[in-house]
Amino acid sequence: MGSESVKVVVRCRPLNDREKALGSNTVLSIDPHRCQCFIEKPGAVDEPPKQFTFDGTYFIDQTTEQMYNEIAYPLVEGVTEGYNGTIFAYGQTGSGKSFTMQGVSDPTAQRGVIPRAFEHIFESIQCAENTKFLVRASYLEIYNEEIRDLLGNDTKHRLELKEHPERGVYVRDLSMHTVHSVDAEGQDHLRAGKLNLVDLAGSERQSKTGATGERLREATKINLSLSALGNVISALVDGRSKHVPYRDSKLTRLLQDSLGGNTRTLMIACLSPSDNNYEETLSTLRYANRAK
Ligand code: ADP
Repeated sequence: MGSESVKVVVRCRPLNDREKALGSNTVLSIDPHRCQCFIEKPGAVDEPPKQFTFDGTYFIDQTTEQMYNEIAYPLVEGVTEGYNGTIFAYGQTGSGKSFTMQGVSDPTAQRGVIPRAFEHIFESIQCAENTKFLVRASYLEIYNEEIRDLLGNDTKHRLELKEHPERGVYVRDLSMHTVHSVDAEGQDHLRAGKLNLVDLAGSERQSKTGATGERLREATKINLSLSALGNVISALVDGRSKHVPYRDSKLTRLLQDSLGGNTRTLMIACLSPSDNNYEETLSTLRYANRAK
């Protein structure tokens, strides 16, 4: 697979009020034309900033609208043409993942990727001539490697991952909701595209959170699935790896048909600009860089 099918962008949020009140400094800067991101180690004036290059760099004042149009739009358009696609946001808690994926509810330029993708799909359908579409949605949570159907009758019930020779990997008994349907499609030219919109758990390392017991168990599982996702994506981008370790987590098994092969993947790495988040921000940049 060509590395063209995996794109990685970074998005840096503004300093928040707490960080401003603490007198935090900004350690990040970007060169949008070269798609480069620079990070300076706080207090290390003699050290040159570390430099990373991505497919797109979005700084504090840039909107989700701009990012969507530049980088997410072609991926979602591809889904209406029958390609599978995955968009996910990665980063520590508070770095802007939900802001980016879900957005603010007002119809502003900061409306999230998820509502934009839904609107986009229905607009494409309306514009398409001679094609009929069936749109179905499901919504699930993977928590501690357990899968639950968030639109199901029983959201506490644990669901199983299954593998079918033709269907591939799927979640047994996951409810599918027809969002807007037209008459059944002709069998001759049936195309199916699947769009996965993933809001990941925070990537902060457990050593810093000082978690114990149940919280530590949770953090360990989160770290496991995030590192499995990183390993899968870097194996795909590398192109030479014969083995892509999809089976290492529920998340990567489930996304198997939408990561790699004839699919498109977009990672949005969310960053805090603040000096007190330096270590986490650097680790997010490194994770994102592996996926390049
Ligand atoms: P996460 O989902 O990564 O834990 P959030 O999306 O909840 O983080 O963001 C943390 C806070 O920062 C929220 O109050 C959010 O509104 C704000 N925020 C995040 N990104 C931006 C941005 N690009 N512009 C303005 N505010 C932002």
